[in-house]
Amino acid sequence: MDNLIIGSHVSFNKNEQLLGSVKEAISYKSTTFMFYTGAPQNTNRSELDDKLIEEANKLMIDNNIDKSKVIVHAPYIINLANDGKSYDFAINFLKQEISRCSRLGIKNIVLHPGSHVGLGIQKGLDNIVFALKEVLKEDKGVNILLETMAGKGSELGTTTDQLKYIIDNVNSDNLCVCLDTCHLNDSGIDINEFDKYIEDFDKKIGISKIKCIHVNDSLNPISSHKDRHANIGFGTIGYDALIKVIYNPLFKDIPKILETPYVTKDDTSKEKIYPPYKYEIEMIRKKVFNPDMIKQIRKE
Ligand code: FE
Ligand code: FE
Ligand code: ZN
Repeated sequence: MDNLIIGSHVSFNKNEQLLGSVKEAISYKSTTFMFYTGAPQNTNRSELDDKLIEEANKLMIDNNIDKSKVIVHAPYIINLANDGKSYDFAINFLKQEISRCSRLGIKNIVLHPGSHVGLGIQKGLDNIVFALKEVLKEDKGVNILLETMAGKGSELGTTTDQLKYIIDNVNSDNLCVCLDTCHLNDSGIDINEFDKYIEDFDKKIGISKIKCIHVNDSLNPISSHKDRHANIGFGTIGYDALIKVIYNPLFKDIPKILETPYVTKDDTSKEKIYPPYKYEIEMIRKKVFNPDMIKQIRKE
């Protein structure tokens, strides 16, 4: 067995909570996973059940899932870059999410830095810095991982320099980074030259800040600023480039998370119904691209 730390986005429902997420991850033969503590598009959150957390912990130990590598994703409606009327709410909600992570025993929460929505890049970055300082004032033992963004609309965190500005000015050991291969591609980084990107990142920020990688193919060409994910090997980045990222020895100890789309019933259908993760993880472990993967998923 290899020691690859790989998993996918999984659901977190009211009834089974973390236990349900672990079960789903195991069904894909994952060694890690990522979840939202409720719906990603809203901030309704249910009360956590300690007994379910305990059962989930046991199940993780029995299945060699290292809980310290499991990831939470903050809801994507939180926007720390714009200090308009939802700014205080966003700051407070993120504080609560961190308390929830701490209660669940999760060490890392991925966050989209935010969109300035007309305020301009500099003001947007300064809003993010102010908000993160406030959120990280109290050390709860949870890291915030800023995600590299595609540059859709007025998204920030789309360049290494922007991330560096935020990280340098917040100046907290608990502020780290999550790379996303689809977002990097769409922002203008050639994943075939990932080593070059990492070298520059290391000079500016330091690779020890990288705590997670979202591994996604992209539906769109480099620099498209679109952010639409594709299944591994079925997009413009391609299987070989993504496999090189996944097996890069520099990132051996950090979790790789798939956020690839569910597969539709057939080519004409728009309804995404089948999770691809069991198949993609198998294809990654074998290190051979399976061009029939989508067909096989539809057949099962
Ligand atoms: Fe994300
Ligand atoms: Fe992502
Ligand atoms: Zn994305």
